[in-house]
Amino acid sequence: MSVDPKAPYDNQNIFAKILRGEIPCNKMHEDDHVLAFEDINPQAPNHVLVIPKGAYVSWDDFSAKADDAEIAGFIRGVGHVARILGLVEPGYRLLANVGHHGHQEVPHLHVHLFGGQPLGPMLAR
Ligand code: 5GP
Repeated sequence: MSVDPKAPYDNQNIFAKILRGEIPCNKMHEDDHVLAFEDINPQAPNHVLVIPKGAYVSWDDFSAKADDAEIAGFIRGVGHVARILGLVEPGYRLLANVGHHGHQEVPHLHVHLFGGQPLGPMLAR
């Protein structure tokens, strides 16, 4: 079931529970603005999810409502995680699924960071 990107934030979603420490994760990085952890079902040798600490359903919600410090902190956090994983030189891919056509499943904004091998074409055909 994909997410309605305009729905109100549900604080019982799985990433909200991870942020509160109610569900474990394999943490890669945490700072004031972001938490980064390994995806439970990795699609590449490196597959990390980077999420803002604020309660935002989707990229749409975040880009419209987050303040400048949150947006800067999130963008910098994603870049930092790629650097600490050594992915800048070989290259990597970022993906944020939004809503039904994007196949977003978890209603808390997350950026997928993929790397560790050539990642092939941008979209499945
Ligand atoms: P989406 O389709 O919403 O962009 O991606 C959601 C991602 O969250 C999926 O890649 C899925 O494997 C991951 N995921 C779902 N539940 C959990 C969980 O409990 N822990 C972790 N680490 N990842 C999860």
